Amino acid sequence: MKRDKCDECGGKLSKKNVDYSLFGISLGSFPAEVCQKCGETCFEESVSKQITSRAKEKGLWGLSARTKVGKVGDALDVRLNKKIVEFLGVKKGTEVLVTPVSRHKIEITI
Ligand SMILES: [Zn+2]
Repeated sequence: MKRDKCDECGGKLSKKNVDYSLFGISLGSFPAEVCQKCGETCFEESVSKQITSRAKEKGLWGLSARTKVGKVGDALDVRLNKKIVEFLGVKKGTEVLVTPVSRHKIEITI
């Protein structure tokens, strides 16, 4: 599918290479259509597939996971799965900083 206008704002699209990062790790530079007005970036399907396979190579695919809040004594805990643990390099006893970003989001800084 060929587009020459932005879906979001109707601005003009131009082709350029865009750096793509996932979880703060660069996956490289990929050709994209970028809106000159709002900056909306769109990758062609074949490029999206390339990005996905690059992410898989680097072990960055599917790191987001659903988990359930558990209970330990009076406190509650959130389990991190093996993939995330390996990616972050945390282990039992690692001290982290837990900060509520909003009522729906927490940030854990290692
Ligand atoms: Zn736009």
